[in-house]
Amino acid sequence: MPEEVKNNAAEQAAQAQKQPVPMPTTYEALRHDLIASGRAYDFDMIDRAYQLASAAHATQFRRSGEPYICHPISVAQLLVELGMDSESVAAALMHDVAEDTPVTIDEIRQKFGSEVALLVDGVTKLTQIKFSNVEDRKAENLRKMLLAMSQDVRVMIIKLCDRLHNMRTGDAWPEQKRRDKALETMEVYAPIAHRLGIRALKEEMEDISLRYLDPIGYHEIESALAMKSGEREEFINKIKKQIYDRVSSVIPNVHLEGRVKSINGIYRKVFVQGKSMEEIYDIYAVRVIVDSLNDCYNVLGMIHDMYRPIPNRFKDYISTPKPNLYQSLHTTVLGKEGVPFEVQIRTWEMHHTAEYGIAAHWKYKQ
Ligand code: MN
Repeated sequence: MPEEVKNNAAEQAAQAQKQPVPMPTTYEALRHDLIASGRAYDFDMIDRAYQLASAAHATQFRRSGEPYICHPISVAQLLVELGMDSESVAAALMHDVAEDTPVTIDEIRQKFGSEVALLVDGVTKLTQIKFSNVEDRKAENLRKMLLAMSQDVRVMIIKLCDRLHNMRTGDAWPEQKRRDKALETMEVYAPIAHRLGIRALKEEMEDISLRYLDPIGYHEIESALAMKSGEREEFINKIKKQIYDRVSSVIPNVHLEGRVKSINGIYRKVFVQGKSMEEIYDIYAVRVIVDSLNDCYNVLGMIHDMYRPIPNRFKDYISTPKPNLYQSLHTTVLGKEGVPFEVQIRTWEMHHTAEYGIAAHWKYKQ
């Protein structure tokens, strides 16, 4: 059973991990998020789902002492962040009802229809499978089994948000449970999030798991990152603006994305590949997405004119794609502050293949 509660957003992963004090999560906060999303949500259905769940869990509390309902509300908030629909949000609010209270799937079907009932039923079934209970404990087998069971992709997305929220609040778990959950999350759920192309979920799951499995290594990486998490975002944003200002005057429809490599990603390079922090050039990365192949090479020229390229770090995966069909230009340059960062340049078509290729493949393969 899940434990503590926070109402942080998925993008606020870093902050969430640094603020162990849970914030109260109320239904008002979820309603606020629903309205702020600007999407047309079915408030009547979502209100009714909250009322049912809130009544069903009324006598239950989390390890932190908070009312149990805080957990499903937080899961629903994560789903809103991911842009999921009314049925998913309603199902998220009721996702633990069938497992932990007398309310049945039939009752949910009568009150909310078969679509919401199927989602709740699917999540309940996934919850009943435990890594440690599966005879063949190979992670790949469990991943396949879970994916096969969640025929509606929304079931898996609700389950991933459920797991993420439990991991965020897992400090209240006993040591052994924390380690078991972390291992299962790292080996089963994070790879599924990766396959579905939901990078924010995948990376936060991996970072929290790592923090539970190797707290010393985790904090070592964290403190070795010279900049604090807020400053890291600021650094990326400044570079994005510099590049945008230069490129957009020449090339139409330029789209920029920035990211800071996850703690887990850096940890792999340091502790598994034996690299030093100075040898990791992609801690910061900016992605430039343009309309045409020609634009890609034009942008590359401009980037190399703006910043000093680091030798032997240029890779043309456009002329020579990776085996998984990945295409992009990669280069590493030195920022004006002397901090290196990677630039990835690609067209929208290449971007689509890179981000959703495997997820789309899986989704339609069933
Ligand atoms: Mn749950």
